Amino acid sequence: MKVAAKLEHINEQILEACRTVNRKPDEIKVIAVTKYVSTERAMEAVEAGILNLGENRDEGLLKKWEVLGDKPKWHFIGTLQTRKVKNIIDKVEYIHSLDRLSLAEEINKRAVKPVKCLVQVNISEEESKHGLTPEEAIEFIIQLQPLKNIRVEGLMTMAPFTDDENVLRNSFRGLRQLRDQIMELQLDYAPCTELSMGMSNDFAIAIEEGATMVRIGTALVGEDG
Ligand SMILES: *Cc1c(COP(=O)(O)O)cnc(C)c1O
Repeated sequence: MKVAAKLEHINEQILEACRTVNRKPDEIKVIAVTKYVSTERAMEAVEAGILNLGENRDEGLLKKWEVLGDKPKWHFIGTLQTRKVKNIIDKVEYIHSLDRLSLAEEINKRAVKPVKCLVQVNISEEESKHGLTPEEAIEFIIQLQPLKNIRVEGLMTMAPFTDDENVLRNSFRGLRQLRDQIMELQLDYAPCTELSMGMSNDFAIAIEEGATMVRIGTALVGEDG
């Protein structure tokens, strides 16, 4: 199926989720996660009007960047090795996976201007998941204060791998509550307004729970049917 057709379907679902909770659709950024697909498919997504693309590896991002440049805004959504920061730092609009001080220090050192970052939280505290626990996230954000090139725009999480709507909803709600707690600290370098949560299978629930960025791969750019 064409990306344009898939986008239309996703947009309908976003509208419906917004209607359910009285939100405005323009509060939500749709990030097309292109990590599984070709550069051509990513280009098709941009031509369909998608403004934000997400990649989880530096190789994938650089390969597509060669062709697409900064026509779309790039979001780095995967585990970022410290030594790879220099490869992507001048190409990305947001880094969604800030999860440790050594990484923050490297971003701070390599950047020529403040970088929009999201702190990755393991809200369900699953062993297998990356990210900080809620308690760690608060302490971590406080530690970032001296790093002038780090701006904490918000939080990111990956929900547990389940179809249980209550479990998903509770995770997203937990991230929003943590975000609100951090906002209350009123740190000038950490406005923390963004919530990056929700993927192909759970983005509607995430939007109902306050997502401002949804990261959609398979359902939006997947090349299968
Ligand atoms: C792959 C990936 C996504 C998108 O996953 P889909 O289920 O294909 O929508 C979103 N976020 C992150 C961090 C990912 O790695």
